[in-house]
Amino acid sequence: MNSKQIEKSVDQGVKVASPESEYLEDLEKIFEMLPDPVLERGKDLIEKSFYYAYEAHRGRKRYSKEPYFVHCLEVAKILAEHQLDHYVICAGFLHDVVEDTNIPLSDLEGEFGPQIALLVDGVTKISGLRFESLEVRQAANFRKMLLTMSKDIRVILIKFADRLHNMRTIEYLPLSSQQRIATETLEVYAPLAHRFGIAKIKSELEDLSFRVLDYDAYREIATLVATEKEKRDKYIQEAIKPIEKELKKFGVNAKIQGRAKHLHSIYNKIQKRGISFDEILDLLAVRIIVEKVEECYFVLGVVHNIWTPMHEKFADYIAMPKSNMYQSIHTKVRGPAGRMLEIQIRTGKMHSIAEEGIAAHWSYKEGPEKAGDVERSVTWVRQFLDWQSDSSSAEEFMDTLREDLFSDEVFLFTPRGKLITLPLGAVPIDFAFAVHSDVGLHCIGAKVNNHIVSLNTELHSGDTVEIITSAAQKPSQDWLRFVASAKAKSKIKKWLKESQVQQSIKLGQELLARELNRFYIKLKTDRISELASESGFDNLDAFYAALGNGDLSVQTVLNRISHHKVVPDKEGGTIQRMIRRVKRSEGGVKIQGMDDLLIRFAECCRPLPGDKIIGFITTGKGISVHRVDCKNARRLQSKPDRIIAVEWDVDRDQAFNARVQLLAEDRKNLLNDITGSIAPLDVNMISLEMKKEGALVLGTVVVQVKNLAHLTKLIRKMQDVKGVVSVARLDEEIERNEGES
Ligand code: MN
Repeated sequence: MNSKQIEKSVDQGVKVASPESEYLEDLEKIFEMLPDPVLERGKDLIEKSFYYAYEAHRGRKRYSKEPYFVHCLEVAKILAEHQLDHYVICAGFLHDVVEDTNIPLSDLEGEFGPQIALLVDGVTKISGLRFESLEVRQAANFRKMLLTMSKDIRVILIKFADRLHNMRTIEYLPLSSQQRIATETLEVYAPLAHRFGIAKIKSELEDLSFRVLDYDAYREIATLVATEKEKRDKYIQEAIKPIEKELKKFGVNAKIQGRAKHLHSIYNKIQKRGISFDEILDLLAVRIIVEKVEECYFVLGVVHNIWTPMHEKFADYIAMPKSNMYQSIHTKVRGPAGRMLEIQIRTGKMHSIAEEGIAAHWSYKEGPEKAGDVERSVTWVRQFLDWQSDSSSAEEFMDTLREDLFSDEVFLFTPRGKLITLPLGAVPIDFAFAVHSDVGLHCIGAKVNNHIVSLNTELHSGDTVEIITSAAQKPSQDWLRFVASAKAKSKIKKWLKESQVQQSIKLGQELLARELNRFYIKLKTDRISELASESGFDNLDAFYAALGNGDLSVQTVLNRISHHKVVPDKEGGTIQRMIRRVKRSEGGVKIQGMDDLLIRFAECCRPLPGDKIIGFITTGKGISVHRVDCKNARRLQSKPDRIIAVEWDVDRDQAFNARVQLLAEDRKNLLNDITGSIAPLDVNMISLEMKKEGALVLGTVVVQVKNLAHLTKLIRKMQDVKGVVSVARLDEEIERNEGES
């Protein structure tokens, strides 16, 4: 039967080969579950989609031998339980029509309108993607899924319901499929459900997957929980009584209930946090649901009055909602008989959001004022796609997604009191990027609770953070080592990538110009373009960038020129011979004092202005500058085509770190005398470490000096101090492999 025929039969009220009465009963149940406004608007359409799906899947069976339609009915039922709107319920009935029958999407659109068609299309697209886990090779699939969700976030709600019913009936599938689907559910769909705050679905998905993936552990925990249940219930009743009594006294209407942990979360606590099963069972949990927000705080006071609170276990997620919109007050007290009691206090509205997450916002129970939260969830998906633009690698994409799905959070404030939520471990740079990308790119320092802190200081919930910016500031590679948020990471990487390309281009131009000069070769621009394409680059910038970052050696390019241009003489005429004959040009790449992205001073020998230096073009990391007499530099001489002449070009007042080692007799006031001796030299002492070695002390001093002469002067001054045996500049034993990397 095609879609036209179905329509006809539905319209004629024939109600086609009338569906089994139990299905019709289920349809009635769905109607009963839905609130009036949904039925007013959508009852007819829901009924139509019921019959349409029934006809479309007729004759098809599931692995369970049940008619396929049962699945559609169950999915619609789950969605109705969550009180979603009629578009979603209809799409629930129809979600497998396009995938499992030959009815095209355009037919559905004609019958049910563009909104429902879009939802069905979204679910069909996501169902076609496989995610065994959050693995890198699946990045493209995740991108597609997020893209689909970003068009209409309700798609993922239907997909959750679909997966939930499939998991509930997974026992009928072949074992290998069971494993695959359960893994995918546990590693992808459950975390996603959590991200959208749908705790109810998340817990059930986790427990169902857990049952498949580790049946023995599942059964063990389930049995233990069951046998302990009676005892626990009794304790909980004991705990509830005094709270009920007190609240009654004050006329507060509250629903107080014991709270069961789901099996997979118990398993996780045992596995990951090393908590014993007894400890978990020992922990009692109670939830108090009140009507108004003020009452939450009142109840908190009452509870703390009955039992002693454990202060470190208090959290106010009402004032500071989690990014999945969860709100509640959490506290932990020493309850009856000294047993720990975890208490959550929230309003009815907060409770429905805690259980249903974004799903709660389509339910007609909630007012339209919550539209902002929905927007935020969609924004999350969109922003995520935005930060992770096409330029990011699959690995970065998955890393960010993983962090975003699993990280805990800290709650911070701007000086004006605006709340900013960041992943646990966030530092001021994360905060700066959360405020605005420009603030992030130029942040130079921060004040946390009015104290100046460094950019890598970990922030804690409740901190007020003020970011200090400077127009001259630029992100550095180092920042990536301590930022925690996805946004900061991807913005920094993007900036580094872009500016590195710019610098590589500049460096490449300089390198080529210098070498050409050295051999008195003059090339027209056309010829350089030719060289670029001969070397496999379709534009000049890419060619220069490759030269600048070491992907292409200048030597290779010169060789190309020599094939064309240089007439071999009697001595052979290779480029090597030319190098011997041609006078070395003066000057090299100018090295300014600051480490920048493409020029870095080697840690092993820490050159100072005045030292003879030499540069190495490393692969992908620009030029590293060593002292000529550095051990590592000598080793690198074996790669002559990577060596590049460099020369100093520094401002007078730039300062450089240098290390000095001194050996002296251990005596009183030695330290004072040493610092006193160098005071006139205007030297900044960064650090000083002294170690006793018998009657002597061995000291390591890090100082900031202007140049080699400055350091030499300093060493002489130190040598003059009474009792000092020897002073010497200290090189660190670092093996470098840059030429080879
Ligand atoms: Mn399905």
